[in-house]
Amino acid sequence: MEHSIYKIVSNPNGRNILVINHYFDVEKSEEIQDEKFDIVYLNISNMSNNEIGLLLEKTSPIFSTKCWMKPRYVQTNNTARMGILDILTDGIVNSPFDELVTQRSEEIFLQMSRLQITQTANVSTFVALFIRLCKYSISRGKYTYTSTIIPGITEGHSALYAALLFNNEVASRKEFLEFNQKLLELGYAEPQDFVERVHLCPQCKSSHLIYAECCPKCESSNINEEPMLHHFRCANISPESTYVYDDKLRCPKCRQYLHHIGVDYDRPTDVHTCGECGHTFIHTKMKVRCANCGSKHRPAHLQPMDVVRYKYTAEGIQSIVNNDALIKIGKDLWFGYSNFDSYLQQLRLFSHTSALNETLYTIRLKIRVADHVSETDRIDFLRRMHELFYDYNFSYKSNYFFLSSKSHTEDISNTQQQIMRNIEYKLSTLQTDCPFAYVEEQTSVVRDASENIERYIRRLCEPIYRNE
Ligand SMILES: [Zn+2]
Ligand SMILES: [Zn+2]
Ligand SMILES: [Zn+2]
Repeated sequence: MEHSIYKIVSNPNGRNILVINHYFDVEKSEEIQDEKFDIVYLNISNMSNNEIGLLLEKTSPIFSTKCWMKPRYVQTNNTARMGILDILTDGIVNSPFDELVTQRSEEIFLQMSRLQITQTANVSTFVALFIRLCKYSISRGKYTYTSTIIPGITEGHSALYAALLFNNEVASRKEFLEFNQKLLELGYAEPQDFVERVHLCPQCKSSHLIYAECCPKCESSNINEEPMLHHFRCANISPESTYVYDDKLRCPKCRQYLHHIGVDYDRPTDVHTCGECGHTFIHTKMKVRCANCGSKHRPAHLQPMDVVRYKYTAEGIQSIVNNDALIKIGKDLWFGYSNFDSYLQQLRLFSHTSALNETLYTIRLKIRVADHVSETDRIDFLRRMHELFYDYNFSYKSNYFFLSSKSHTEDISNTQQQIMRNIEYKLSTLQTDCPFAYVEEQTSVVRDASENIERYIRRLCEPIYRNE
């Protein structure tokens, strides 16, 4: 029984716990439907690191459909193997009937029903991802977060984002910081207290800096420290190495042997010698190298940044759980926003984080804007596009507009039709509002989960590359 792949057990509160002893794909399983279990319990003691990684992904309270927001516990004989993702579990325990499982789960269920936390539509924008992270935090009774994702001083939904990023540097921090900024602007969050002052690379804003002492003359860190010796009798002061003679200490100036520190000599200070240029000096210089972009800086030129703890306001919590925040921030954040590189980065991120049964789906539109159109009209047109397609990953480049979304593979033709109808409708509104813009070409580019994301991106960008 212990070794069955999975089983479902009931706890004293009548909650069903899905206990998984060996890896299998929960999302794909026909047998285990969403409503069959309330709590997830993973016994990962006998799994390989690879299986643990996959299982944590398949049962993710953020990304999976069946395990969405459900309390999740882990049994393991080695917590180190979970890596940074232990942040997305509710406890490490030894039995599904552990007191902690029973109590903690009821707290989460209470919070979920009290706040009526609803599922976020299956859209693939960054904003939707961030909102999911906020919802998860709120469901766990965590209302504060830090303004940074710097490891060690990050909390709340910022810590969740950092955990998701840990092996996935493709995602940009910029969108996340903008999102946090929007929470403040809209009154969804307010500053609570000061956490820490950190320093950033003035070039790339990374906090990943390497500090090293170096030679003030040539800036090499190949420096050696040794004491200076002061011979009282002749007043000679020079590095200890100049005194070493036949395993004893002998003054290089007057050639007398030294015997007792404090009596015939002392060590007034330490001195540094540079292994590269030979320069001798008392005070080292500090140099800083950015581990991200490699640039070198003086400490005084680093950019200081205060890390602050924020707290969701009552209005913020309400808007996050009922998806108002998703719509509002989505509209604002993508307004005027059109960085194509950043859009491609998002596609890469979502190819990492999406479930196997999800397909990336992009509509590529070639839209021609009449030549005589004024700058104001042009901006109006862009604004209108952003408003209409706020729930897509959205970007444009050389007359081509890209609208990306995720959908479930099982139902692809159906979903595709729905998406097309939705897009047709939106484009007809656009036609009314901006009659000077018209769609010249419309192509859907679908990626199934097995296609390499770079290959997909090449297919997607093919007409742009052709024109360049
Ligand atoms: Zn030097
Ligand atoms: Zn001497
Ligand atoms: Zn840098």
